[in-house]
Amino acid sequence: MNTKDLWLAIIKDLAPEIKRGNIITWFKNTAILSNSDGILNIGLPLPVFLDWHAKNYANITLKFAQKHDPTVKQIAYEIDLALSANDLRAIDLLSHFPEKESRKLPKKAQVKLSGGIVSQMLNSRYSLDNFIVAPENRLAHAAAMTVAKHPGENYNPFFIYGGVGLGKTHLLQSVGREVLRNDPSKIVVYTTTENFTNGVMEGIKSRNMDKFRNKYRKVDVFMIDDVQFVANKGTTEEELFHTFNTLYEAGKQIIISSDRPPQELNLLSDRLTSRFESGMIVDVKMPDYESRLLILQNKCQDAQVFINEQVLEFIAYNINTSVRALLGVLNQAIAQYELENMSPTVKSVSEIIKRSKKEVKMIGFIKDDPKPHHAVTLDQLTDYVSEYFTIPKSEVVGESRAREYLLPRQVVMYLAKSKLQLSLVKIGKYLGDRNHTTVMNAINRMKNQLKNNRQLLCDVNAITREVGIH
Ligand code: ADP
Ligand code: MG
Repeated sequence: MNTKDLWLAIIKDLAPEIKRGNIITWFKNTAILSNSDGILNIGLPLPVFLDWHAKNYANITLKFAQKHDPTVKQIAYEIDLALSANDLRAIDLLSHFPEKESRKLPKKAQVKLSGGIVSQMLNSRYSLDNFIVAPENRLAHAAAMTVAKHPGENYNPFFIYGGVGLGKTHLLQSVGREVLRNDPSKIVVYTTTENFTNGVMEGIKSRNMDKFRNKYRKVDVFMIDDVQFVANKGTTEEELFHTFNTLYEAGKQIIISSDRPPQELNLLSDRLTSRFESGMIVDVKMPDYESRLLILQNKCQDAQVFINEQVLEFIAYNINTSVRALLGVLNQAIAQYELENMSPTVKSVSEIIKRSKKEVKMIGFIKDDPKPHHAVTLDQLTDYVSEYFTIPKSEVVGESRAREYLLPRQVVMYLAKSKLQLSLVKIGKYLGDRNHTTVMNAINRMKNQLKNNRQLLCDVNAITREVGIH
């Protein structure tokens, strides 16, 4: 049993014991990364998954893993930010666990086209408009625009290459969507190389290769993603060559993505390599700092969450491996905001980054590590709050009644009472020599606001967490 089948079998066993929603939430984009020496290494897409899995699923996962593979002795979890929906290692859970009748999903993963062609559906998240253009991908984007406008004309084939998570799939899918937007009668087929390979295998099994070949005759735009996976697959390579020629001769657009340029694909036959090299070849690289920041800002706007600019700058500065990793960290920060009601701060984000870089974590070692309780003084609390809201401490403890100082001062009052258990008199004295009833009223106002103001709640939670008084 390969690791993908093993993982699916385990998840199917787990399913009756877990709500469907939880299966989708917590097992989406997970995968078995390796299975050797008795250790089943499970990849999780975000650090937030780790505690959840360890706490809730580790034991039953181990039980069912052993049912299918008795050599498994232990489970380990590993955070791999590269795991995402279009990662070949991950399982398409939605197709295995479809929604109940009442809320049936539109057939998400695939659409049937005339002539029996099945194309993986184009994802509406991807468009040429929401692709941030940086010096490192400008040419790829410009060429994609041209291809979308004039499919089958000048840039044929159109070959995009670059490392993981740099926007190749995004560009392919956007071109497909744009072509369809301009002319809905066009037949646009997007396929992964894995999917294409499966088609070839089925053709061989059913001894009906012609059926497979004929499928592609009517296609106007043919996109094949991650073509590096055809290397060492003789028959698939042969069929791809066939498909390529048929379409090319008919003037149909072919778009190919790969993690390396054609000549480095090590294909069995040079003819396919030279076909790939005969059109437009562009690469994508990691966008520069400014563009990374722009990508993060755009994402926040889409998700309608407000994250401090400084925090975004910190992420953009530190993550320079792939856009996918960049968004992975951001998503984690957003999850923190949404699940824990805590505004991301530079500190909490740096922890996310640190944790995501820590590779393997064994179950036996996973423990909550509560921060040692240290006594926080009113003065330290005020220091932190003024820093958090970027206003001078002298104003927080001062007499000014200006609005911008009012809120931070109330936050200090509220936390000094609820977390440091200080007396109203003491708090009032420290904060501009205020009367204890003034302090009490402010605290009550604060309590009410916290019920209705999510942003304020997130800010207060971030402060208590970082000061260590939560
Ligand atoms: P690849 O196929 O090269 O591995 P993807 O196209 O899947 O990478 O990109 C990974 C993620 O990063 C996707 O969510 C994609 O939308 C996003 N992304 C990549 N490049 C950009 C960009 N220039 N602007 C906006 N989003 C991007
Ligand atoms: Mg891709």
